[in-house]
Amino acid sequence: MGRLLKLVISFEENFDIKKLTSFKIGGKIARVYFPENEAQFVEIMEKEPQAVVLGNISNVLISSEGYSGAVVLTSKMNNITIDGVRVTADCGVKGQKLAQTVAKAGLAGLEFMIGFPGAVGGEVFMNASANGQAISDSFVRARCYCPERGVFELSKEEMKFGYRSSVCQEQDVKILGAEFELEAMDSQKVEARMAACLEFRRCHQPLLSLPNCGSIFKNPLGNSAGKLLDDCGVKGLTQGGVKVWENHANFIVNHNSGSSLDVLELMAKMHRAVEEKFGIKLEPEIIFLGGNNKREEELCKMLYQKTQK
Ligand SMILES: Cc1cc2nc3c(=O)[nH]c(=O)nc-3n(C[C@H](O)[C@H](O)[C@H](O)COP(=O)(O)OP(=O)(O)OC[C@H]3O[C@@H](n4cnc5c(N)ncnc54)[C@H](O)[C@@H]3O)c2cc1C
Repeated sequence: MGRLLKLVISFEENFDIKKLTSFKIGGKIARVYFPENEAQFVEIMEKEPQAVVLGNISNVLISSEGYSGAVVLTSKMNNITIDGVRVTADCGVKGQKLAQTVAKAGLAGLEFMIGFPGAVGGEVFMNASANGQAISDSFVRARCYCPERGVFELSKEEMKFGYRSSVCQEQDVKILGAEFELEAMDSQKVEARMAACLEFRRCHQPLLSLPNCGSIFKNPLGNSAGKLLDDCGVKGLTQGGVKVWENHANFIVNHNSGSSLDVLELMAKMHRAVEEKFGIKLEPEIIFLGGNNKREEELCKMLYQKTQK
């Protein structure tokens, strides 16, 4: 563990990231920083403006051959403040913890977060949603950072939320924390809603004991990626140590120590199958971080076209 900069900020070199990812895939990262507050975050970004910011790494496939740049992990930025129906959470707060905390305080609107492993920054960046709720529904404003503007705020309107998208993706804006306006409700009622979200998930999605990265492809407008893939008969298709989950065709599970190349090769097969049968080019929902493997780069060029990081 190293120490650097004016403030005492912990970081590690050649950090093995695999164990921290929901896919249990990923190689060594050249430099990983662990800021504990906004001042440290900003100081790191001033020194490493190209650093990639990650939350709970549940929507990112990291190359098994690692990443030669810097990564900022926000897991130590995890304060929650409740003021009436207004709730402020740092970017590294885990969605599940936030959902449970506000439920105990008798506040509704974030129940959907109980079911999946994101943190607030990643959830705002992706406009996470499930069970008929989206993070944009109760979002009021975010504290943000970019090199040109320093620290600034973005309102809900300025966030331009869409399906799995926000302005932060187009403009490479980092999220420091977000404020939500929730609805006062009896705690037991909110907890019952959370239990229903969990029950739905248990029936429709793989648990994290079977490492995965959530939905692989976005739903095309008016269509379901899972249904299109299922109609192509990809369930159970394997590649190295990964396979398409037998119960839902839009999930890849890492059942046998698979690699990032296994995942990308399998994604390419799924993508080709849908394009050949339906003429639809699926767009990946998961984000790839790599750059050290030629075959992976070729596959990303085909799969991502404009969305690759
Ligand atoms: C089992 C499972 C089920 C899932 N179910 C759902 C679901 O129902 N609905 C849904 O929407 N998603 C789902 N996901 C996907 C994932 O959990 C969400 O996309 C979540 O919002 C990602 O949060 P994260 O903290 O893990 O982000 P990460 O995976 O760490 O990062 C995702 C993206 O956000 C960026 N990012 C992260 N933090 C910041 C920050 N502070 N500032 C700027 N950019 C940042 C990263 O650079 C990256 O581009 C599921 C995943 C799994 C594994």
